[in-house]
Amino acid sequence: MTSSLDAFFRPRAIAVVGASPEPLTIGHRILENLLAYRFTGPVYPVHPKAAEVRGLPAFKTLEEIPGPVDLVHVVVRNTLVPEQLEACARKGVKAVVVNTSGFREVGGEGVELERRVAARARELRLRVFGPNCQGVMNTEGAFSLYANFTFARIRPGAVSIVAQGGGVAEVIDNDLCERGVGIRMYASNGNACDVAIPEILDYYGEDDGCRVIVLHMESLPDARALVEVARRVSRTKPILALKSGTTREGARAVASHTGGLAEEDVTTDLVLDRAGIVRLRTTRELCDTAKALATQSAPKGRRVAILTNAGSPAICAADAAVGAGLELPEPSAATKEILGRALYATSSLHNPVDMMATATHEHYRAAVSALLDDPSFDALLISFITPFFVDCEAVARAVAELAAGARLPIVANVMASPERPDVARILEAAGVPTWYFPEEAASALAAMVRTGTLAARDEGSVPELTGIDMPGARAVVERALARGGGMLAPDEAAALAACYGIPVPRWGLADTREQAAALAKEIGFPVVLKAVARDLVHRSDAGGVVVGLRDHAETLATAGDLLDRFAGREPRLLVQAQAPGGIEVIVGASAVTGLGHTVVFGLGGVLVEVLRDVAFALAPVTREDAARMVRAIRGAKLLEGTRGRPGADRVRLEELICRVSRLVIDCPEVVELDLNPVLARPEGELALAVDVRVRVARREES
Ligand code: ADP
Ligand code: MG
Repeated sequence: MTSSLDAFFRPRAIAVVGASPEPLTIGHRILENLLAYRFTGPVYPVHPKAAEVRGLPAFKTLEEIPGPVDLVHVVVRNTLVPEQLEACARKGVKAVVVNTSGFREVGGEGVELERRVAARARELRLRVFGPNCQGVMNTEGAFSLYANFTFARIRPGAVSIVAQGGGVAEVIDNDLCERGVGIRMYASNGNACDVAIPEILDYYGEDDGCRVIVLHMESLPDARALVEVARRVSRTKPILALKSGTTREGARAVASHTGGLAEEDVTTDLVLDRAGIVRLRTTRELCDTAKALATQSAPKGRRVAILTNAGSPAICAADAAVGAGLELPEPSAATKEILGRALYATSSLHNPVDMMATATHEHYRAAVSALLDDPSFDALLISFITPFFVDCEAVARAVAELAAGARLPIVANVMASPERPDVARILEAAGVPTWYFPEEAASALAAMVRTGTLAARDEGSVPELTGIDMPGARAVVERALARGGGMLAPDEAAALAACYGIPVPRWGLADTREQAAALAKEIGFPVVLKAVARDLVHRSDAGGVVVGLRDHAETLATAGDLLDRFAGREPRLLVQAQAPGGIEVIVGASAVTGLGHTVVFGLGGVLVEVLRDVAFALAPVTREDAARMVRAIRGAKLLEGTRGRPGADRVRLEELICRVSRLVIDCPEVVELDLNPVLARPEGELALAVDVRVRVARREES
């Protein structure tokens, strides 16, 4: 493998610019870490005055160093960083870790300084980690690299860590190393002015020594690149993520008048899901899942066998497993027969299989191999107490033997008495991850299952749609942009919808009551009148929507009322054919900075604010996404038809979702679009969007 990141993770010689003789400094610490962890190549301190640092001869400048240098740590005052980059370039250095802070993170001049550093590094063809970062580590024997100023433990393993911030990364690293899991590589790249997370993921993806990738982020600055790289890498290697902080964009995922609808970080969930990254909610879960996947592969399905010698903890494990979406099917008849012959008569042969506390290693051997062979299962969870009257080490050895080359992943919950520390040790040495609490083992297994499901999932396809007039739609959008953007007028919004085959009721605009009545006749009764006026957003709240107008006289009178009510606000009237009643749903889309659009579906009309029963996807929405959205809302049953009430044509709704998605893909300047409500009708009948809201704005990114 050759990559420009090799100079960071696999350098042959390292210099530390700013390696002070003063022990409580970052430069000193880096030097100390490099030496303590026995970096295999030369290490050069660079310091303007010191003759030696930590027993190593110091150099006044980089250029005085006799041999070649691949990697340089820069630990000098922020304003001195640019001149050190020049020195690196003169020395022929390839990679620079700028540990120094005082850049973008402090705002003001720091932002400008960072921009200058990034631009100059590009010109000089230097790759930069940071600024304001910790650095890198690599436990690969040939390198033994601890190029980082922290004091976290480090031991070789198969989990690689990449994080924006150093603190959480350190916690994860420490935990994994303390629990014997170890790490492969570690990267904390701070402000990421050059090397960003997607590139590091790609690098880890190519590294055969890495089995699991752990990612910690505080924001999603490279969402598109992240999705592109992670989708590929996650097919062969699990990527687990913790995202702290929430996005403003997520909360904006629906147009302003239904604002605050989205869960706070829906966007993160959508991005990670599309990227094939499994999101964990806590650092503990993240580490537990990493530990499990470091030695076990992800199950191919959700069917778990639980085997125990203690009833009650196994029930806790079963509850946790089922609560996390796993299934506990019965063992097959053949398995039960084997178990019946091998185990005590008092054993329970259901799932959990309870062998009783006196079960010996022979019982374990028989039961574990029978369950591993049973096609009813995708994984095995062993829940084990260590009775004083059983040779528990022999049990552990029997399980360990069977675990080697087992058909299914195995996790264990070992509730060892203090005299039996070896039980868990034997299992873990054989690659069977263990936890003290039953629920921890079950939830790690559930996360493993999520990983497997994501990796194996059919990504689906974006449907071909007919009857789309993209030039027509672009013309509407361009006209709006030419006047500075903003909300489209109702006629523009309806025209835009029509260009994408989104069915709307017949409509027209009137300025007087007489015009309204004439239009109504042309459209056909009954009609709906809607006031269009300056600053009128929530029309029905302000009494601006009147439905069920059956004739000329009613229309004339109501039109007069509405024009009077909104007098002084340039009132007009939208005359619409009254759509046959249906289930009110919302279909919408909203732009997210750096990412395109989220698309939303849910129960609409007033219910949207009350119930917030919605599901999201990222555009472009696939057929599968759309089907999932329609099924995912809590009110999905309403759409099937309930208690004599007709349901909705769900296929039609799915298509409508895909049309909205296509519209915002083709017209990304449509930053908000809401069809609320769409009146969904039973199978075979059109679903009409009776209210179309569209906001258009020029976007800096594509
Ligand atoms: P707003 O969102 O501004 O309050 P809408 O245009 O969404 O106003 O209309 C409010 C409600 O009136 C809708 O939820 C729907 O129940 C009903 N409605 C509006 N237009 C029609 C129509 N053309 N046919 C049938 N019902 C309609
Ligand atoms: Mg509405």
